Parts: sequence; C-alpha cells; structure tokens
Amino acid sequence: MGAGPAVGIDLGTTYSCVGVCQHGKVEIIANDQGNRTTPSYVAFTDTERLVGDPAKSQAALNPQNTIFDAKRLIGRIVEDPMVQLDMRHWPFQVVSDTGKLKVQVSFKGKEKAFYPEEISAIVLTKMKQTAEAYLGCSITQAVITVPAYFNDSQRRATIDAGTIAGLHVLKILNEPTAAAIAYGLEASHKGEGKRNILIFDLGGGTFDVSILRVDDGIFEVKATAGDTHLGGEDFDNRLVDHLVREFRRKHKEDLSQDKKAMQRLRTACERAKRTLSSGTAAAISVDSLYKGVDFHTTVTRARFEDLCSDLFQATLKPLGKALRDANMNKDQIHDIVLVGGSTRIPRVQTLLQEFFSGRELSKKINPDEAVAYGAAVQAAILTGNRSQGLQNMLLLDVTPLSLGIDTVGGVMATVIKRNSPIPTQETMEFTTAEDDQETVVFEVYEGERPMSKNNHLLGTFILSGLPLALRGEPIIQVSFSIDSNNILTVLARDTDTGNTSQLTITDTRGRLDREEVERMVREAEEHRAQDEAQQEKIAAMNSLESCALHLKRAAEGGQALDVRAKKRVLELCEEATSWLEGNQLAEKEVYEERRRELEEAWDSVFSDLSQGRGVEGESRGEEDGAEAAVAQHGEEVD
Ligand code: AMP
Repeated sequence: MGAGPAVGIDLGTTYSCVGVCQHGKVEIIANDQGNRTTPSYVAFTDTERLVGDPAKSQAALNPQNTIFDAKRLIGRIVEDPMVQLDMRHWPFQVVSDTGKLKVQVSFKGKEKAFYPEEISAIVLTKMKQTAEAYLGCSITQAVITVPAYFNDSQRRATIDAGTIAGLHVLKILNEPTAAAIAYGLEASHKGEGKRNILIFDLGGGTFDVSILRVDDGIFEVKATAGDTHLGGEDFDNRLVDHLVREFRRKHKEDLSQDKKAMQRLRTACERAKRTLSSGTAAAISVDSLYKGVDFHTTVTRARFEDLCSDLFQATLKPLGKALRDANMNKDQIHDIVLVGGSTRIPRVQTLLQEFFSGRELSKKINPDEAVAYGAAVQAAILTGNRSQGLQNMLLLDVTPLSLGIDTVGGVMATVIKRNSPIPTQETMEFTTAEDDQETVVFEVYEGERPMSKNNHLLGTFILSGLPLALRGEPIIQVSFSIDSNNILTVLARDTDTGNTSQLTITDTRGRLDREEVERMVREAEEHRAQDEAQQEKIAAMNSLESCALHLKRAAEGGQALDVRAKKRVLELCEEATSWLEGNQLAEKEVYEERRRELEEAWDSVFSDLSQGRGVEGESRGEEDGAEAAVAQHGEEVD
C-alpha cells in the first residue's frame, strides 16, 4: 500500500472518530460496521482481542476484561484522586506496577496487564485501519485531539499511544480548538468577518468551554474552562443508580455488587438516555437482570432531567469563568457552538440558551464529528495541503493552566499565565534563600492556586555549582518554553557561571520511558501478525461453511442428481456443518483440507453421474454454479 494522507483522530473518552481532508473537503470515515464513531472500547477474551463496536457489545458478558475510559487513566498515577474515584465505577481492575498504572485482564487464559497508552494505541490502530480500508493506502501521520485541560504528562502519553499505533503524531490539538477549526472553515466559506465563538463541548467524559476569536481565517483561543469529569457517562451513572434503587424497592434485592448485572443495566441506560433526547419517555427492559428477575421499567424525560439537574446546571459555572477570563460579556459572543454527543440532550440546550437570553445555538456541524473534522483539516494544513478554504489559516492555542515554580514559603511564582497563546517563552529571575547556597532545587507546578502544594507538580530539577555568595545575590534566570504541542521545557541558568540545568520530568510514574514505548511498538507489531493469522483462520472457517451451504443448496435444487447422489452430497454437507459447530478453534489448514475434501466429493458425484447416466449438459450447469461460488469465496478470503 502507498503512503496516504494525514488523518485527524478524535480520541474520545467514550467514542472516537477519524476524518480526512482531501481537495479541501473533509470526510468522516465509517468503520467496518458502518458507524461514523467507534466506541473507545477494547476487550480481551479467551481467544481474541476485540476493539470498538464488537468490544462494546460484548461488555455485559465480559465486564472484567472490557476496558473503556482509558482516556481517564492515560498519563495518571493510581494514587490520583480522580483515578481513585473512577475506580469505584469500573468493572475492570486497575493496578499499580512498580509505580505505573495498568489495567489487568484475563487474555487467552492468562493474566495480562496493559498500560493505558497500550489500550489507547489499540483504539488508535482501529481508527488507522478504518481510514486505511477506506482510502486504500497506508496511514502513518495523524493529528490527535485531547481535552483542553490535559496536562503535560497526559499529552505526552497520548503521543506515546500514537507512536505505539505506528502513527507519527503531527500535533496534539485541543478538542475545542479542533471544533473551532471545523466551524471556522464553514464560516470562511460564507466570507464571514471577525467573530467571537463560544464552543460548548459536552462529550462522554469531559466538558470544555472555549472562547475563540476568528478574524479573517485566523483563530485565537481567548479562554478555556471546563470540567475533566463531566459528561454523558455521569448521566448514565445517575440513571443506573436510580434504577438500582428502583430494583431494590421492587424486588428487595441489591444488584450493585454484581458487575455483570451493572454493566447490562448501564448499556440499557445509555440507550434510554439517547432515546430521551428525541422522545419524552424510554422503556428499559433487561431480561434476567439479577437472580433471574426480569427488569422492565420506564423512565420519563422529566425524571431523567431531575436526576441530572445538578450536573446539567454545573455546565454553567465554567461558562461564566471562560467569559470572565476572556474579558467578554455574553453579548460579545457571536456564535454559540454545540460539540459532543451529550449536547443533543434538550435540557442541556435550553439551559445554555437561557444563559444566553434565548439566543440561537449553532448546530451546523454534527456534534459527534466536529472535533475529528477540525483535526482532519489541521492534519491537511500541517502536511502542506493548502488547498482552497485552508489558505491563510493559522492557529493560536493557549496554555490551559498557569505554569510556575515553587518559592520560599511554598508560594508558586507564576512564569507563564494561563490562557497565554502558544508557542511561548517567558523568563523570570530567581535567587538563593540562604547564604553560601550551592544548589537550588526547582519544583515546577501547573495550576491556579497560589500555594504550590495545591497545584499539580510536573517535575523537579536541580541547579548546582553556584559560587559562594550571600543569599539574594546570585541571579538565576529560569525560562519556560512551550512548543506547539503544549509541551514544556524549563531551563535554569546561573548568570555568574553560565551553568545551566534543564527540567527532567521526575514524575515518570505518570508516563512511560522511551524503551517501554519501543517495547510496546514491537509488541504491537507482534500482535499484528497474530491478529492477521486469526483473521485468516476465521476466513478459512467461513469459506468451509459457505462451501458446505452452497453445495447443499445446489444438491437440493439439482434436478439431474439421482436420489442416492443427492443424499450423499447432503450427508457430506451436513457432516461438514456439524463438524464446524464443534471445531471453532481449528487451524486454518484443517479448514482448508476439509473444504478440499468436500469439493472433491462433489466432483466425484458428477463424474459418477456423467459416466453412469449421461446427463453431462444439465449437471455441468450445476457444477459451474458451484465452481463460481467457490472462486468467489476464494476472492473473499484473499
Ligand atoms: P462524544 O464523545 O462527543 O461522541 O459523546 C459521546 C457521548 O454522547 C456519550 O455519553 C453518548 O451517550 C452521548 N450521546 C450520543 N448521542 C446522544 C443523544 N442523542 N442524546 C444524549 N446523549 C447522547
């Protein structure tokens, strides 16, 4: 396969989406199930690994080994309070392996643990394959999106996931920014001028508000705010909790400890929630939910809105914050853009509309696809595809959190303020706190709280070899630089000696080192061969089955066959079919051998017939039919 265009991938918490921009036109690519978004689910069974729709649909039967929400784990450590909180809702196991977080599953009968990067890489590989199947060429470059609030280690870990999937990550793009690009592209088609756009992105797991200014094709992100832990899954959980209570009331049983039952209930709740976006009531029906009890109930939209009202209301606070940060009032916003599947919820829309005093909301771009759409456009721009409509488009991104270092008394000195456009570089001068201090330890933090301990520690580094001096005398310049991927480098320089020291991220527990990434690339490569072998095996099994079915049909309809010959063919087909039922795990060669036997048996029936009864003309017709079918299957197998 030749090298193909760069794609845009929205690697979502619950769903992922891939798009490509060619000749100035964006296409969102459907997966092999025909779906334009793919569940970010990976499942492990006794025989195989599943990704996307098949993984999600078997989740209820295999809850412990079906991994979702990898995006909530990526770049984090087990001790992270968010992880600790989330763990209560997950049916799979999260473990700590020499300080690094992994998910543990049973795969092919053995315990195996995976880093979140590996799980995300499996999802990314699926998105890559989806694009490759559609475009008919190999895809090696991508723009991948992340929530605006992702910190450095989460962004780096996402790049690692891309590398493991065999993708060169051209850029890590903030999701709301990607949506704005998509929106901006639409707007520039209409020749609209300077505008302030508010992006309201409520997806499966994250909520982001961004305010952007678009001016003559140039975007500037003025402010971002949000909640990394608010989205469709929280609404699902509210419904689940409600129904667990209802089940307890009705049947005097607590099903909350039964992981399988909970998973089945959750699947039903998500479906009901989607129904409630268009209808005013949804039926929920789960057969034999717990201890053999069938559970049938109805949830009204009003009840759902009541259950989630505080969560819906919580979307308004970041709206106010973003406006304050951008120094704008509501009237200065020209467009309010909806992004993310959960913005389809009517109550979410009316709350937002009320906040903006009844203003119209923009829903021009499909909310599930807007992020991948923008990422695809960005990918095309970065690979030099400046076709019509993409010309003159630049992008200014901002830092999601303030960055600085810890100083005397545990106070954080901010070097780069939040919402500063990136790439950026800032330098600040520091000095010693004691006489004759030879070394200075720098602790780099991100966050908005004045006391460092309340912010997130990114890393520590040491500058040593300072000449003897009174405290306050040495001048140490510390420069923070952020590249276009929002990745931070901190450099300290003693102006007297010229000694320098650079930030080495000591928070390695949150991310992987190079060797591990390379090992995983190798493993992914090894896995690919296994996956292909598995696919060939399944193809050979299918080929035998369809051959048996076809010959059975041909024999049943074959007027020229005498009763004995017909019986023999039907017996052989029956035998092959029942053999298949008990042999789902045979080797590819075994299936091929059985198919050859079947074909030979069919041929011999005809040679008997043509010799004994002279019906060659008629029977050849049947035979041709059989051969054509076999050849066609051969093509399918190839
Ligand atoms: P996203 O990550 O943007 O694709 O959003 C996925 C989330 O949107 C999931 O939690 C879905 O359950 C939710 N979602 C998708 N469609 C609808 C809908 N029609 N009504 C309510 N929520 C939806």
